[in-house]
Parts: sequence; C-alpha cells; structure tokens
Amino acid sequence: MKQEILVAGLGVTGIATANALAKLGKQILVFEEDASAAMQSKANEIRLIANIEVTFIQPEVLPKLIITSPGWKPNHPVLIRALSSGCEVISEVEYAWRIDQESAKPKIWIGLTGTNGKTTTVSMAEAIFIADGKRAVACGNIGKTVIEVITGDEKVDYLIIELSSFQLHWSTHLRLQSAAILNIADDHLDWHGSFLEYLAAKKRITNGAKQIIINRDDRHLNGIEFKGDHKLVKFTLDAPRPGEIGVVEELLVDRAFVDDPQEAIALAELSDINPQAPHNVANALAAMALARSCGVNAESIAKGLRNFAPGHHRIEQIEHSAGIRWINDSKATNPHAANASLAAFSSIIWIAGGLAKGADMDELVKSKSSRLKAVLLIGTDRELISNALAKYAPEIPNYLIDGISADQLMENLISKAMELAVSGDVVLLAPACASMDQFTSYAHRGELFAEKVKQLIGSNK
Ligand code: ADP
Repeated sequence: MKQEILVAGLGVTGIATANALAKLGKQILVFEEDASAAMQSKANEIRLIANIEVTFIQPEVLPKLIITSPGWKPNHPVLIRALSSGCEVISEVEYAWRIDQESAKPKIWIGLTGTNGKTTTVSMAEAIFIADGKRAVACGNIGKTVIEVITGDEKVDYLIIELSSFQLHWSTHLRLQSAAILNIADDHLDWHGSFLEYLAAKKRITNGAKQIIINRDDRHLNGIEFKGDHKLVKFTLDAPRPGEIGVVEELLVDRAFVDDPQEAIALAELSDINPQAPHNVANALAAMALARSCGVNAESIAKGLRNFAPGHHRIEQIEHSAGIRWINDSKATNPHAANASLAAFSSIIWIAGGLAKGADMDELVKSKSSRLKAVLLIGTDRELISNALAKYAPEIPNYLIDGISADQLMENLISKAMELAVSGDVVLLAPACASMDQFTSYAHRGELFAEKVKQLIGSNK
C-alpha cells in the first residue's frame, strides 16, 4: 500500500490528525466504519479540501503505523489485526509528541488526567499560566487537539494537556515536565476491561515525568508507588505537610514549591474559587501545583483563579425561582462526578440515569440518600439506580420518566420536577451516566435541560 499511516476513525481527533498529517506531506489513509450520511459528508469535505483519501471499507493491507481514535476500543478487529501483524498503534498525542521532539525547540509538556475534573482543572491551570504572562494553551481532550497545536501557527511555550485514559493507553513515549492525576474511580470499564487496566492507563501519564502531582485524599492514588527519578507533590483538602499543597482555614497553602520545606506560603483564598464546592477546591489545588511546578509566581495564582470562568454543564445554575434552584451538571456522566455534585447540595430532586458504562450505583445511592428528596429516572440503565434505591433508601420516592423524543423527555422531566419541588429544593441534573441512549451527547442533554427549564419556569412565573 502506498500510504505510510492509517488514521483510524473520522471523529474530532481523526479529522484533526488527518489534516495535520496532510499538512506535513504524509501519505495517509483514513478508515471509518460508520458509512452514515453524516460521515460521508465529513469524508467528502476532507477529500476536497485537503485531498485526503478516506475509505469506509476495511483496508486489506495495513500500513506500519496506525493512529487510532480514542473512541475505538483496544479489541477492535482492525487494531487487533494491526498489532498481530507487527504494526504500531499509537494515539494522536503520541504522534504529536514525536513531531515536537524532532523540532528545533520542543515545547514544555504538562499533562493532567483523572476520572473527573480534568477539563475544569486544565482550564484553571491555563488561566493561571496566562495570568503569569506565559504563552500557554489548554489542549488535548479540550479545545484543540495536541497535534493541531503542534502543527499550528500559534506561538506557544507550554502545552497544558487534558489526557484521557484512552489516549494514555496508546501513548508510550510521553515524558512530561509535570504530570498530575486528580482522582480515580470506576469509569469506562467497558473500554478498558477492568478497573486495574483503567488505573494502569491513567498511571502511564507519570512514566518518565520530572514532577508528579497527585491527590493525597484519593484512596486509589495515595498509596501508589511511582518509578523513576522525579519530584512527588501531593495535594489535599487538609493542612499540607512539608512537600505538599493544601488548605489551612480559608487559605490555599504551598509547602511544595518553596525554598525551605518548613516554609509555607498562602497562594490564594477559598473565595477565589468558582464554584466553591469541595471537589472544585481539589481541582484548584491541582492547577496551582501544575503552575508552581513550572515556576509560575505566587502572585499570579489568585489572579488566575479569579479570571477562570467555569464551563457549561458543570454545576451550572440555570434558574433560581420561587426559592428553587435548577442546576445543570449534565457532565456528571459517572457515579464519582454525581457524588461530588450531590455532596454540594441538600433537599435534592435528582435527575439520574442513562448509560452506566459498567459502573456500580450502590455506593453513590447509599452515601448520598440523606440528601435526596425524590429521584426522576431516565434511560437504559436506570434499573441500577432504582435497585440501589430499593436496597438503601426505599423511603425516597422515585419516578420513571419517558418521552417519545429527547425534547419530550426533557419536558416531562421538568414538569414532574416542577410538581415536586418547593422552596429550598434543588433540582439537579447529575445523571451519573452517559447520555447517548437518549441524547446525542452530555452537552445536548444539558442544553435541553436549560432550554426547557427557562421555557417552562418562565411561562409559570
Ligand atoms: P472531565 O474533563 O474529567 O470530564 P469536567 O471538569 O468536565 O471533568 O467535570 C466533569 C464532571 O465531574 C462534572 O459533573 C463536574 O461537576 C464533576 N467534577 C469536577 N471536578 C471533580 C472532582 N475533582 N471530583 C469529582 N467530580 C468532579
């Protein structure tokens, strides 16, 4: 075959990779198995604009290098065939690393992973670097892909990269200046096969890293041994010990990046963090640690945190009317995120359910039942939640809500919540599940929630 690289998948990453490779003059073939009209039209677009070859038929002969979409599971037949015939399978991030290392002035790579809070933390870190006058960009699973930044025209010194377990699974050579892991909990077990495999993929971010930053309060992370020569910094919501970053009363305190380990400097106040929920304080501490590990000045930390604007669908207040708060946390696509969300409120009418991706709901329901007033259940795996409620909180009423379309479903949900909620309650969309069984994405689910809340509450005011 004439092509030297196969790009597997025509999603966001595949398109960015194909365009970047074409720009570099590489001979490539893109393979996509979904031959729907939408995919055909994407294929036509890159064929026309960048003269890239796209096929919807599995190639008989594979090139030596495959750059795979993070969405493809490792047991995909094409990837298995590639590996068994001696081809190399890598992520787009790994390829970007290789290009950058060959350049005259490689950039400084900083990475962050975790089950939840990655996008928020990477954005906070970017805001802090920028407040310090550094040319930094958040990329990876957020905004631009890494390969776009590496092959683009923007002048950048620091890459602050959000890395998913899927990208890490296929990345072997990354050697980061600083690598942080926020937290680890059950997620994507269907992709990785087991929790241990998932943990192993996350841990790869630390391979060869000069500085490793981890959450001391996370039970899976605290005891892990990391190989190699590195500085290890832990962050905690408690008072920091020497070598750590933590919280003392209202202050965020650095005892890791100071000259004397007995020294402690206050970098910011809790009130600089938005929203000020405990999980978000942990995110801010991780962002601060990443920044300090790259020499960001103490004075820039609070400024950066205050400049940071939280993203949509992450504990976003949509309405506060008649004493009832309507909160969109559609991004809570697993029990760990929903747990953080439920911990931030009480007297909750909880909208939950969707695709559980192999996660267990018992612990979540058991530990948060005292905060629940009623539960509205949607989607394919809602029985997991209703079973957990029957076991641990049978006194909490729950309702199965359906609709013939996503639109109708959301209308029915909001109407039911309006019927149940009284002043002082919080209606919280934090489904603990992915959305694709009933919506096109978590963003679609969150947007419909916001739209219907505004529409129905508005007409009721
Ligand atoms: P990610 O990029 O890892 O998906 P986001 O910042 O987009 O993370 O947040 C995803 C979800 O997790 C949101 O529902 C958010 O409220 C919740 N969340 C954010 N930070 C944390 C954290 N440190 N621990 C638990 N949940 C969190």
